[in-house]
Amino acid sequence: MSGSLLLPLLAALAAVPVPRTLTVTADTRLLVIAPHPDDEILGAGGLMRRVHDLGGMVHVVYLTDGDGYPEGVRLEERGKKKNPSSSDFRDYGRRRQHEAHDALKTLGLDEHDATFLRFPDGGLCKLTHSYWSDRHRAYRSPYTRRDRPPESDTIVPNAEYRGEDLTLELARIIAEFGPTLILVPRKEDQHPDHCAAWYFLADALGSVARVVPGLAPDVVNYIVHYDDWPFNDDRAALRPPPGLRGGASGWIRVTLTPEELQAKREAIRRYGTQMRAMRSFLEAFARSNEVFSRPAPARVVLPTKSSPCCDR
Ligand SMILES: [Zn+2]
Repeated sequence: MSGSLLLPLLAALAAVPVPRTLTVTADTRLLVIAPHPDDEILGAGGLMRRVHDLGGMVHVVYLTDGDGYPEGVRLEERGKKKNPSSSDFRDYGRRRQHEAHDALKTLGLDEHDATFLRFPDGGLCKLTHSYWSDRHRAYRSPYTRRDRPPESDTIVPNAEYRGEDLTLELARIIAEFGPTLILVPRKEDQHPDHCAAWYFLADALGSVARVVPGLAPDVVNYIVHYDDWPFNDDRAALRPPPGLRGGASGWIRVTLTPEELQAKREAIRRYGTQMRAMRSFLEAFARSNEVFSRPAPARVVLPTKSSPCCDR
């Protein structure tokens, strides 16, 4: 579709009220975009369990292994190493992958329901902008020293740490899985990788629309990092982050059943490395509801001229 046709369509879509409810059924095909292993559970572990229990399909795409976390690596080494090596960071990523598999198991899912793209933790925002195409060298992780995903895990041949390769890989997964519902962090999420995840998803959806015209998944946002939210208090319910509006839909609160909440709690506990690093933060997400919002129809084409996610 040409830009001149798309813009009036977006304006028309913006005028249509965006629903404030989120209903899942046995026909739901839920794709969760997780920048790091644990984000999927924190944002939507209860809803994932619900879709699975109803007989729907759930697939999680982990954009990174979460291996660029020096404090976490040092904690696992019990302070023995002041300066972890690239292999320590890679080992940490592998450990987080195992934890993700264990967490998904508690929801009734298995390893086939997860894809690890293994892009650079802490580097995604740079890929939206500076390290976009092969006109420049690929980004190299200062942690793992990798400049590409391991060959065994590439979806697109010869993928490197470049934005266009990540968009291509995501687009391929979306086209093959055929989601009816996609959960992705909001662009206002203050973690640069989370913000970048939104841009990559939006860019990939634009690519998919050109080759699979009938595919029109419902795109819903979750949020993990926003100031001091979620507060470590003893409220049973999870309130939306103060100071952040609920997108185009208003905040959508999905009440969890006791079984769904219990499964979410169990899944959070499977992330041992993260529990050791920030237990109270993780546990603050295990409440009687989850919060979501829908974005306004957006036309995102990467690369961005500036880097909206890096400077936060
Ligand atoms: Zn994260």
